[in-house]
Amino acid sequence: MMRTARRIILKAGHVLCGSELKIRTNMAVVVEDGTIKDITPFDKITEQTEFQLLDYSDLFLMPGLIDAHNHLSLDFSLPNYLERMADPLPALVLRAVNNMQADLLAGVTTSRCLGDKGFLDVECRNAIASGTIKGPRLVIAGKGIRSSAGHGFVGYPFDGPAMIRTAVRENIRQNADIIKFYITGTLPSSRGVDCFLSREEVSTIVDEAKRTGRRTAAHCIGGIGFDWCIDAGVDVIEHGYFLTEKQIDTLAQSSAKLVLTPSFFMSAKRIESMPEHLVEPHFRAAGMAKSSMQAIVRSGIPFALGTDGVHGQGAMAAEMSCLVELGASPSTALSAATSHGAAVCDLEKVTGSIDVGKAADLIGVKTNPFVDMETLTDIRCVIFNGEVMKE
Ligand SMILES: [Zn+2]
Repeated sequence: MMRTARRIILKAGHVLCGSELKIRTNMAVVVEDGTIKDITPFDKITEQTEFQLLDYSDLFLMPGLIDAHNHLSLDFSLPNYLERMADPLPALVLRAVNNMQADLLAGVTTSRCLGDKGFLDVECRNAIASGTIKGPRLVIAGKGIRSSAGHGFVGYPFDGPAMIRTAVRENIRQNADIIKFYITGTLPSSRGVDCFLSREEVSTIVDEAKRTGRRTAAHCIGGIGFDWCIDAGVDVIEHGYFLTEKQIDTLAQSSAKLVLTPSFFMSAKRIESMPEHLVEPHFRAAGMAKSSMQAIVRSGIPFALGTDGVHGQGAMAAEMSCLVELGASPSTALSAATSHGAAVCDLEKVTGSIDVGKAADLIGVKTNPFVDMETLTDIRCVIFNGEVMKE
């Protein structure tokens, strides 16, 4: 049941406050018109009859999750999920709406969508913002840009600076929030990491995007493509599966941000739906991807976290568990899925933590997530912009 309340008090047993996620007990989170107005011990609250009281005394309230790399109509649970990206557009739209609603109920209150078909993400974002349909806050990229040589089934092919410039402008005209491009594949070839765009094409993308204040995001696993992205001033590196120690250092010293999507190489579930021809190369590359991601975790550089097209209950929890398996502390994993996600979305003033002045994007779990990450597979309540989406 969905319910609107303009003024609510969330009575919480525990609240993970601020971007440092400091646990405070027996608290009240006061919400007005979707914004957090106060966070105070519950016993300091005097009678406030005009507020609706929601009792979450038995829960830990934490910030809503941010899936920092997603695609609305890509669904890894479907057999041959890549070919399914060629389904008719109406089918993709229906899938997208289902996926994003499942994500919202799974605690994802902001989703950064890195390319979809036919600008369906633009329509979804606008429909959510206007209240026509329910879904997380969407930050979207419109049509992902790739070369005709690759990579992938989600983006659209464009060759040469002139066509690339037109592609970026088409996205700007659709009011995309991010300009996304694919510079490498996801798996190394027998020759190493292929780079599918020229240096000139990369700087064309950055030039066009920056002039209208948009961030650029590169699907980039490593190789020379990574170096060119950093040189060109790309804002966000996506995946980074095969970065060398030297490239991790370069990243640490640059202003570029990083989004990790670890479960692709770490979850056995991913192999079940993987097209036959990818299984062997995936298996061959997994060890190297894991050690590179371990080096990233060890380096202490901040990163956000994304599912890359896994939806619903437990999807973000699985990514967080992978991080812990790679050596990250629960605290690092929780920050990656909340405040660092907000920073990558350019929304750190809006969401990503439970702070006065931010949107009331909160989720409730049964036990302390620092101690028991498994609790994140069972999201008990979801509040998005002060509206209860799941009780
Ligand atoms: Zn992706």
